[in-house]
Amino acid sequence: MDNKLMLMIPGPTPVPEQVLLALAKHPIGHRSGEFSKIMAEVTQNLKWLHQTQNDVLIVTASGTGAMEAGIINFLSPGDRILVGCNGKFGDRWAEIGEAYGLNVEKVTAEWGQPLDPEQFREKLEADTQKQIKAVIITHSETSTGVLNDLETVNRHVKAHGEALIIVDAVTSLGAVNLPVDAWGLDVVASGSQKAYMIPPGLGFVAVSPKAWEAYKTAKLPRYYLDLGKYRKDAAKNTTPFTPPVNLIVALQAALQMMQAEGLESIFNRHQRLTSATRAAIKALNLPLFAADNAASPAITSVAPQQVEAEQVRAIMKKHFDIVLAGGQDHLKGKIFRIGHLGFVSDRDILTAIASLEAALRELGYEGSTPGAGVAAATRVFAQ
Ligand SMILES: *Cc1c(COP(=O)(O)O)cnc(C)c1O
Repeated sequence: MDNKLMLMIPGPTPVPEQVLLALAKHPIGHRSGEFSKIMAEVTQNLKWLHQTQNDVLIVTASGTGAMEAGIINFLSPGDRILVGCNGKFGDRWAEIGEAYGLNVEKVTAEWGQPLDPEQFREKLEADTQKQIKAVIITHSETSTGVLNDLETVNRHVKAHGEALIIVDAVTSLGAVNLPVDAWGLDVVASGSQKAYMIPPGLGFVAVSPKAWEAYKTAKLPRYYLDLGKYRKDAAKNTTPFTPPVNLIVALQAALQMMQAEGLESIFNRHQRLTSATRAAIKALNLPLFAADNAASPAITSVAPQQVEAEQVRAIMKKHFDIVLAGGQDHLKGKIFRIGHLGFVSDRDILTAIASLEAALRELGYEGSTPGAGVAAATRVFAQ
């Protein structure tokens, strides 16, 4: 029997049935009144999701396109930027900056550890000439399952006064509180295949008034991802180029679902899924890769020692049709990652943990008593 595939990777994430049905509709014209109405609604709801009055613009690209747009619209060649690097996605921001000839200074931490906000404070305070034009932080570092302390780093950026704060919120927006206006975040990038619960293909960029000021003098080349074009057209409920209309209709359905659930409930659910997953992994005596106080709400990384991470993944897929993520770059084969982002319920976690226990048993793992993981997750859900 072809079993129901359970995607437990940090994107693409599972897509709810309402959204699949929205996707299946015949495309409509993107210059029609009907489509403008949808654009007006999703633009409003994106602001709600970002807790902002700022522009939230939609581009046809994966999350990396939103990241690139976040750099090329606001900076100029040679600009000095600080980039937090403690995983694959932090490194990607540094690579994009280097590709565009920026003066990239990395603030690093070992993969699996959170960035140290003090290192940002020191560099920002030492910059009395105000040469640092932007600080870039990956809020939830998907490659390791670490949540960086954006709030504290941002406070240091605000004390500096000049630098923009640019945030990769791809696996934190819609999973953990990210009040864009309350914190004064200048540029916030995200992508559709994560907490938005729709397939890959859309990137989102929230832009503050301060970032629009920087836009006026920014000199990096831009055309397709020139956010000024998107802003001008968004005001008329349209887009500069042909958007993937079906994805926009799917976005409308997904945002309606999110509104019905409410932001508080969405954040609480992700916290509960994270706590239950981590409690289960601990009860199975498997090492967690990220510490409790730096745990991503989207993904839990596990670094097994007595069994091979890749074998765990292979058995989970073969016997249970559950897809877990592996490690990236030097973590390949060292960790496996359990995604719990977006359209994920308590039941999904119980299913995944029970299946994980069975897979461990098949691999001859004897580090825990049968049922210990499920029991631990159940206790969290019962609270
Ligand atoms: C998924 C992801 C991205 C974007 O990756 P794409 O493959 O381009 O969509 C960026 N940052 C983080 C932290 C991510 O998890």
